[in-house]
Amino acid sequence: MSKKLIRLSKSSISEAEKNAVLGVLDREYLGMGAEVKKFEENLSNFFGRSSVCVVNGTAALHLALQACDIGIGDEVLVQSITYVASFQAITATGAIPIACDIHPKSLTLDWRHAEKCLTSKTKAIMLVHYTGGVGPLHEIYEFANKHGLRIIEDAAHAFGSTYKNKRVGSFGDVVCFSFDGIKNITSGEGGCIVTDDLDVLQKVSDARLLGVEKDSDRRYVGERSWEFDVKSQGWRYHMSNIMAAIGIEQLKRFSAFSVKRQTMAKQYDLELKSLKNIKLPDNDYNEVVPHIYPIVLDGTIDRKWLQDELGKRGIQTGIHYQANHEHSYFKLNSRSLPVSERISRNILSLPLHTDLSESDVRYVADTLKESLQKNI
Ligand SMILES: *Cc1c(COP(=O)(O)O)cnc(C)c1O
Repeated sequence: MSKKLIRLSKSSISEAEKNAVLGVLDREYLGMGAEVKKFEENLSNFFGRSSVCVVNGTAALHLALQACDIGIGDEVLVQSITYVASFQAITATGAIPIACDIHPKSLTLDWRHAEKCLTSKTKAIMLVHYTGGVGPLHEIYEFANKHGLRIIEDAAHAFGSTYKNKRVGSFGDVVCFSFDGIKNITSGEGGCIVTDDLDVLQKVSDARLLGVEKDSDRRYVGERSWEFDVKSQGWRYHMSNIMAAIGIEQLKRFSAFSVKRQTMAKQYDLELKSLKNIKLPDNDYNEVVPHIYPIVLDGTIDRKWLQDELGKRGIQTGIHYQANHEHSYFKLNSRSLPVSERISRNILSLPLHTDLSESDVRYVADTLKESLQKNI
């Protein structure tokens, strides 16, 4: 029996990241400066359009909404099954998250349900690229455009994924990524906003530095603005050089990371596809670079029991996610969402990170199979 702990997720840090951080510490310029500028340039090359780096993915979503003039009393459509960050970013602006149901296969927003939630206050739709897959993005953009909605993509799971041969982030209205410790690449904590909209770019770039106009440009050359005007609400949301130094090295490793994640997910698919009482994510891993690998249990399996069984064998599992419309803070005026509620109770994520070996994945799959046999 394996004594090794198989973690649900973790960062993968090499000497390169460690040395890059030491370099920043040696130069004694820790805040936002040359490294952040360079990381932004590298990201902009990766996406083929401009990006602005911030302190985390939640801040990216908050600033993106604010820059699209979403505020008090506005309504934003969002799928209930997402990290609570998506919801909190919306309420941070004073807007109201309107929880929508998901499609049972893709586990991404069901726009036909979202259409029923439209009111005169609906201003935007936040799309969550759950696991890294984007769902029927074309149809969703058509739906949003038809109703004049801004589209904020929460692409925290989807760094490196493609849709119709185009990288997520290289197109679309305003796209937000997270670089927290366990995402497809990390900068420690961190995030970025990618868009073609020059007005949004300028607004988020000022708002991350307390609304001090054009302070970003000064800091990139090691200076600061001493005399300036402030015209709008800003936040202390910029990225630091320490974070960017990690991000620059991680981006260089991304092609290796993406192959690894896709290979592991394909292996899980192969090992688990014959099991009758679980459903697997509906992703094509030639396109999707998965952040997580969740399975959906059918009604015969007690999730808590299964988590304990796997835990006893050294396998960590997770729940991505509880339905947000059931949280006390968000449940006001939300309707019942049958698919989200069922998924919320029956979803379970298996370990997925780039330091797992092929035999680790097989061990997880075999242990899962054995446990499910015991269940009968
Ligand atoms: C990680 C994540 C975020 C927020 O990113 P942070 O960097 O942790 O603030 C937002 N949405 C989803 C779906 C996420 O997984």
